[in-house]
Amino acid sequence: MAAEKITINNGKLNVPNEPIIPIIEGDGVGVDITPVMQKVVDTAIQKAYGGSKKIHWMPILAGEKAIAASGQLLPDESINAIKEHLVAIKGPLMTPVGGGFRSLNVTMRQVLDLYACVRPVRYYAGVPSPMREPEKLDVVIFRENTEDVYAGIEWQKGTPEAAKFEEFLKSMGKKVREGSGFGVKPISEMGSKRLVRAAIAYALKHKRKSVTLMHKGNIMKFTEGAFMAYGYEVAKEFGDHVITEKEVTEGKSAEGKLLIKDRIADSMFQQLLLRPDEYDVIATTNLNGDYISDAAAAQAGGLGIAPGANINYNVSGIALFEATHGTAPKYAGLDKVNPGSLILSAVMMLEYLNWQEAAELVEKSFSKTIQQKILTYDLARQVEGAKEVKCSEFGDAMIKNMG
Ligand code: NAP
Repeated sequence: MAAEKITINNGKLNVPNEPIIPIIEGDGVGVDITPVMQKVVDTAIQKAYGGSKKIHWMPILAGEKAIAASGQLLPDESINAIKEHLVAIKGPLMTPVGGGFRSLNVTMRQVLDLYACVRPVRYYAGVPSPMREPEKLDVVIFRENTEDVYAGIEWQKGTPEAAKFEEFLKSMGKKVREGSGFGVKPISEMGSKRLVRAAIAYALKHKRKSVTLMHKGNIMKFTEGAFMAYGYEVAKEFGDHVITEKEVTEGKSAEGKLLIKDRIADSMFQQLLLRPDEYDVIATTNLNGDYISDAAAAQAGGLGIAPGANINYNVSGIALFEATHGTAPKYAGLDKVNPGSLILSAVMMLEYLNWQEAAELVEKSFSKTIQQKILTYDLARQVEGAKEVKCSEFGDAMIKNMG
């Protein structure tokens, strides 16, 4: 068999037995965690399918290594490779400070129109958590990735653009303080609906109980409020498969249906702390999603093990799986940090490929290794009786636990 490209047909992914998957090692600790993830994933695939399936990793460049090789932070070649092969995975990338650079991660999401940032957050027994009952948290956050104040429409105070915008606002009868900086928050019907549609489709596929639309619509009516309204409109497309909280209050039965509800953003943070088991899939705008993803990850035991993916469901099918933490430069090359975030992102990738058996093998061995108290420094320092291991040794322990 030979290496082949993954393709998409009418929104359905066709995955060959030997797909080519572009991989960005990443800056900083990328050099430590990425090879460990590859070794773990390759072993799981070998064990799950006895050699009938295999990933052909295709290294591509971005970040510091790309600068060294080509002078470009994000070479066109790398973007084109992802567009051509559809599914890719990346380690963390540094964000250059100053010089007007935008975050590479944000740029990639926008250039590839990866509109859904998907962050599952669940607790693994044995991981130290600040919560009394961390196991009650098991949510998947769908964060809109391309709009909101994150879209990069902003002007620094004192620039001619800011002055022009200030004039425009005044001509519209709005008062602003002189010398303000500005950021614009566009929220579109198309952008909101495709995100909520993806979240509901995911929830139905994975037999989840509810989708909560998280918004700040009580204050920002035409952006956050509109997001919520679009969400409920999209829910109607799913007919009898879904039911709204309002309908349940009116006496309809929710039996066998996916519950659609909404919560105001500030209340959502409280609810996730106080009644985590009442929440399941959460669909939200970009900035809310940024905050709630990290807060939820902290509840479950930290960013070192939180996985993530940026996906364009159904249209281009492009999906970029990633470690959610940064480059942690002080630990780069020390073989020390936790490879969990990238490994669990690879689990999401295997699920996206529909290689469920390999995904389960990796997740179970991860869980087992943590329960054996075999931990990298970040978790070991919080767990009594832990055996502290290096990044690569954690991967080896996982492989051993695959049997
Ligand atoms: P960071 O790289 O995530 O590191 C902050 C701290 O988090 C580390 O010092 C370490 O804490 C802990 N940590 C991060 N990854 C860990 C891992 N795998 N295992 C164990 N502990 C881990 O955040 P930062 O220092 O703010 O950012 C550094 C660079 O990364 C910046 O250029 C930033 O823009 C970039 N960044 C990239 C991404 C991405 O590519 N997705 C995301 C965020 C930031 P202790 O020191 O307490 O051990």
